[in-house]
Amino acid sequence: MNEHYPFVNPPLPYAYDALEPYIDTQTMYIHHDRLLQRYVANLNAILSGYPELQNLSLEEMLRDPSKLPEPVRQGIINNGGGLYNHTIYFNGMTPSETRSEAQALYPVIIRYFGTVERFFDEFKAYALAVFGSGYAWLIVEPDGRLRIVMTPNQNTPVSNGLCVVAGIDVWEHAYFLKRFNDRAAYIEDWFHVVSWEAANERYVNCINGE
Ligand code: MN
Repeated sequence: MNEHYPFVNPPLPYAYDALEPYIDTQTMYIHHDRLLQRYVANLNAILSGYPELQNLSLEEMLRDPSKLPEPVRQGIINNGGGLYNHTIYFNGMTPSETRSEAQALYPVIIRYFGTVERFFDEFKAYALAVFGSGYAWLIVEPDGRLRIVMTPNQNTPVSNGLCVVAGIDVWEHAYFLKRFNDRAAYIEDWFHVVSWEAANERYVNCINGE
């Protein structure tokens, strides 16, 4: 992700059809090239009138939104959060088998959740419990504890002082074309393509203070 204004839509790290049959090609195209693109355009339009914000990274803006100018605060939470959250989501999936790449994260998952299956069960319950649009996240607390949280809309855990390891977008646009209203099936699909390698890397950055 480039550091500051003007922001760009980071290219997918795989082809549009790479996550078939779990995430369909048309959904990936619309989700990345149209929906995320609009968040990026909106964010840049908002920042174009605020030179004092143009040198800040997304994370710097989102860490404490109360410090943002009131007229653009919600717009940055929505569109900056949209860019931040989607970048983690898209970069957090892969067509490759990556479970063996989670050397640092795996033992911590076992410590906090018992087994990978129980972690999935709990993560799924959180992702299903998001009412309306939002995300479920695996995060690291400031004291190092691993936990699952939800955020509504494009709010991001960074604004609550939490460090993100992995996250699933459960807005209907992420699955409606393929799974219609069956969010549970989409969450199962996501487990097949989640990048343990990316999650492991994010976890290591979290505990090292990035
Ligand atoms: Mn989305």
